Amino acid sequence: MKNESIKACPRCGSVRLRALSLREGGIPGISEVSGLFYCNDCGKHVVPVIFQNMNEYRKFLKGLGGKTHI
Ligand SMILES: [Zn+2]
Repeated sequence: MKNESIKACPRCGSVRLRALSLREGGIPGISEVSGLFYCNDCGKHVVPVIFQNMNEYRKFLKGLGGKTHI
C-alpha cells in the first residue's frame, strides 16, 4: 500500500494548494521551510495540515463542520 501524505488547507480543507511564488511573498528556501502555501479555494496563504492517509483527512473534514466543498 502506498503511503502518500495529504496536504490540506486548515481553513477550508481543500487539497488544492500550491507553494507560493516569489511575487506572492514566497521566499526561496525559507518558504519551503515555513511551508507556506496558497489555497486555491479560500484564496488565503496557509500552512497546510499534513495527513498520513485518507482516513485522517476525512476525520479532519468532519471536524470542519461540513463547510468544505470538495
Ligand atoms: Zn482553503
